Amino acid sequence: MFCPKLNIIVPCYNEEEMLPKSAPVLAGILNELIEQNQVSKASKICFVNDGSSDNTLSVMKEITQEKSCFAYLSLSRNFGHQAALLAGLFETNADIYVTIDADLQDDPEKIKEMVQKYLAGNDIVYGVRTDRDSDSWFKEKTARLFYRIQGFLGIKTVYNAADYRLMSRRAVDALRAFPEKNLFLRGVIPLLGFQTAQVFYPRTSRIAGKTKYPFLKMFSFALNGIIGFSNIPIRLVTIMGMLISFIGFLLLIWSLYRSFVGGNIQGWASLFSTMTFFNGIIIFSLGVIGEYIGKIFTEVKGRPLFIIDKKVGLD
Ligand code: UDP
Ligand code: MG
Repeated sequence: MFCPKLNIIVPCYNEEEMLPKSAPVLAGILNELIEQNQVSKASKICFVNDGSSDNTLSVMKEITQEKSCFAYLSLSRNFGHQAALLAGLFETNADIYVTIDADLQDDPEKIKEMVQKYLAGNDIVYGVRTDRDSDSWFKEKTARLFYRIQGFLGIKTVYNAADYRLMSRRAVDALRAFPEKNLFLRGVIPLLGFQTAQVFYPRTSRIAGKTKYPFLKMFSFALNGIIGFSNIPIRLVTIMGMLISFIGFLLLIWSLYRSFVGGNIQGWASLFSTMTFFNGIIIFSLGVIGEYIGKIFTEVKGRPLFIIDKKVGLD
């Protein structure tokens, strides 16, 4: 029987506290899968060191020496979570890939169910969180708003699915064919098509270390997920401009009429406030267009998404 090779990709940025805890848990799960002959003995747990500034890399080295199922990739500097995931997917060899965060907030036990769904013929299996109890009030609300805006703009994502998922080799190969640099995986992967499935789990809190997604990073990540997938914001700017010009035209006719019939025009306050308001809209619109130009700039430069410094334990 064909026994697929599974690589579990774990992006790590300053995870020295978390790694010694998550590594044995993941190894246990992989072992079970190997014993049940669902995945091959050559399967690996592959950590991706995303330019950590703490001792993550030395912890990885130690762990990798202990057991042959561990391997690691080290990037030349910090490239960000999405790039670290891609490095793991593109630079390692396997038939199935599962990506999971190092903090194991996403129930690793579900990897078994994901593999079963893969064996049943699915190319992509999404991990979907059933609740957000472990999130702060603010994170929950902003996440909800983000999904709303995406829905409004017609961007397809899987609701409440983050970057915990299984992908088959051919799905990863299809992903490789997307040349864009502003990769927002949650938005691109649904574009791949293929037969997909979902597994559900409640998300827990981080047990060690702290989040690497402070507000600004989250904001820029969310903006990427919108600007990268929809031109509707630019269209809205155009429509807004047309509407405002039309209103301006009506106001012009009205004020001409008033000056002919001799009504005295007062109203410094109204003039001032409309001016400020419309100046605001102009600057906002320039900002929206600028965001797109910024994205084009990044794409045109075509810089590599990640640079590998070291590969250990990988074929
Ligand atoms: N991470 C990374 N590079 C970064 C930031 C984060 O590889 O620049 C990793 C991090 O080590 C973790 C995962 O991405 O494994 C998710 O980060 P985190 O748990 O801090 O995000 P949150 O769960 O708070 O959204
Ligand atoms: Mg986390």
